[in-house]
This record gives sequence, C-alpha cells and structure tokens, in this order.
Amino acid sequence: MEDNHIYQYSLLNALMDGVSETGITVSKFATKGNQGLGTFARMNGELLFLDSKVYQLQAEGNVREAGPDDQIPFAVSTQFVSQHTRTVAMNDKNAIDDALNAFKHYAKNLFMSYRVHGHFQYLKCRTVRGQEYKGQPLSELGKKQSVEEYHDVTGTIIGFRTPSNWQGFGVAGEHLHFINDERTAGGHVLELQADEVEIQIAVANNVHIELPTSEDFNSASLNTDDEGVKNVEG
Ligand SMILES: [Zn+2]
Repeated sequence: MEDNHIYQYSLLNALMDGVSETGITVSKFATKGNQGLGTFARMNGELLFLDSKVYQLQAEGNVREAGPDDQIPFAVSTQFVSQHTRTVAMNDKNAIDDALNAFKHYAKNLFMSYRVHGHFQYLKCRTVRGQEYKGQPLSELGKKQSVEEYHDVTGTIIGFRTPSNWQGFGVAGEHLHFINDERTAGGHVLELQADEVEIQIAVANNVHIELPTSEDFNSASLNTDDEGVKNVEG
C-alpha cells in the first residue's frame, strides 16, 4: 500500500443487505495499511485496525485480538501518514468535522482519514451483537446494539470521512471506532467529550476496492438505504 491510499473490501450496501458470512482473512487484511475499521463475519462486533494489529470490539465493550483466519466481510484501511496534526478540544463528535474542515487541504469531494489520540473525559460507544440469522440486515442489528459509557479514558479513535454522495459505497462521515491504550475496551463512537486531544489528518484520492465473489454478494440488491445507513452510523 502506498501512503494514504485507501483499501476497501466489499461495499457498505452489501453489508446493509446482510452479506457478511465470509470475506477477507485478518492476516490478509493486516497487509493493507496501518489503520482501519470494519466488522467481522455475521457482524459480530466492530473491527479496529491499529498499528498492524486487528482488534475485535465485542458486545459489552470487551476487546480481543482477532485470529489470523477470522473473516472480515467489510472493512476499510489506509497506510496512514499524517499530513497535519493539531491539538483540539472536542465538546462533541462535530468537533472532528470542524477539525477536518479547518485543514488547509480539506476537500469536500475527496476522502479523508484521521486518527485522534489522547485523554477523553467521556465516551459513549456501541458494539453490534452479531446476526441472529444469515442475511439479517444491518439496520435491524442497530436496534440491538450493546452501549457502554466510559469516563476518563485514554486511547485512540480511527475514522474516515467519505464524500456524502458516496454513502452506499463505503464508510460514511460519522463512522469512527475507539480503543483504549490498554486494549481492553472500545467500540463504535456515538458521543465524545475531550478537553485536549491530538488529531492527525490526511487527504486520500486513491481508493482500491476488492469485491467479494460469493453467491451472497452477487445476489444482493446493493440499493442505497440512506435512512438505514444513518441509523447504523449513529
Ligand atoms: Zn462502527
């Protein structure tokens, strides 16, 4: 992977359609850069890829390091090299958008990747509990997520910003995953508050997409469900 190129496996629309039985292995995905996010087979938890390690953020906020043969039905990664670093206060999640907008190379129609590190006064995270049956749509799973609150934790958030009209293609703007420094807690960030954290930002204009060749993928409708995407992005 070249610096700040983005790699994506499958399409968000396929995941929305419940296509999540199989995918790329963890060992193969781990060669696609140094940070990223996604989910696991049957949408069992949230995936966070950080410094060459792939973590499974499970219900109740538990964390396990994924096994090399675990399957990833959808994920995005990048060989992240920061182009801009700044220290900011974050009263809520919108502060991330503000920081991205303030970057002088900000581009509305390009992709951006970022990493936030520091001490958070408050974080509210969710983890998807996994499908109860094959093909269960992600929008249904959103209703049964596990939600945890954390106070005074230090850790890292990984995120991507996708241009708005690419919504069904990939990880959209509000999608960010957190893991603490001890690698014992984490999830998909719903709310946050921090007096002072460091954000690193890079712009990306190269996106490599690998599509599944499975029967499930080829029979999926791949329609964009804007409402559903919004619900699961939280
Ligand atoms: Zn997520």
